Amino acid sequence: MLLVSLWLGGLGVPGTAEAAHKRSGVKATERARKAHRRHVAHRRGGKPIRLEVTKVRPGDTLEALAYRFCTSPDAIARVNGLDPTDTIAVRDALQPGLSIVVPIRTRAALGMRKWVALRSGEGVDALHPERSYGRPEVVLHLTKTFARMATLYPDAHPALVGSLSKPGGGRIGHHKSHRAGRDVDIGYYWKHGQPEQWGRPRVDEIDYERVWVLIDLLQRTGHVGAIYMAPGIQTRLHAWASKHGVEKSRLDRMFQYPGHRPGALIRHEPGHADHFHVRFECPDDVIELSS
Ligand SMILES: [Zn+2]
Repeated sequence: MLLVSLWLGGLGVPGTAEAAHKRSGVKATERARKAHRRHVAHRRGGKPIRLEVTKVRPGDTLEALAYRFCTSPDAIARVNGLDPTDTIAVRDALQPGLSIVVPIRTRAALGMRKWVALRSGEGVDALHPERSYGRPEVVLHLTKTFARMATLYPDAHPALVGSLSKPGGGRIGHHKSHRAGRDVDIGYYWKHGQPEQWGRPRVDEIDYERVWVLIDLLQRTGHVGAIYMAPGIQTRLHAWASKHGVEKSRLDRMFQYPGHRPGALIRHEPGHADHFHVRFECPDDVIELSS
């Protein structure tokens, strides 16, 4: 059963699923349409639902705040009168204790409200069950994608998955992210001799075909915001995809390599030699599907 529960934060009326149930179907449809229009307006940079003042924690950057509150560094820069094109300011640590205004655009900004565990199964071994929790739609996309990989490569070793998040989110260990159920660490596929546990392949031991196919499937969900990968591995993956007929226009959208395209899906990030990190976008929270 798909139940549409509306969140009318903009009007200050939190609609419950039960209430939505009682309304007539026509009204609910109309409300859903309005909510959707509002959501589209948010996406196009329309008005945020509200502004929140937050204190900068040690090590916070505009990027870190944007992640925590499901918005963009640009949006935060703008409401605080900072220059969004100043990339140094975007990546620099802010002064701890400073008050920053954050535009809240979606309910996801207010935390990880629902979560489910990614379990080992078709095409996937989840290595850390205690921190394998993600937002339901994220886990659903991952489960489907890994199952598809198992169908395409029935004899291959399943993907090894490291951390997602703890139930309900929050800080885990040294991770700067993995706090909101939108992040997942996936070990590279090895051509031969994939270990049972986390291992670091040499760049020539990586099965670029399967890494590409997995990333391709994830990208086609339309819900992946970024993939972080070690530079040397991105370069080789790009070469593999290029050699195997992936169109240049798609490569340009997908890869930061060879230039520095800030909006590219796959980004250079040191520390990702034994896995790549997939971040899902903030979901469409205005209309939330529950079942
Ligand atoms: Zn990670």
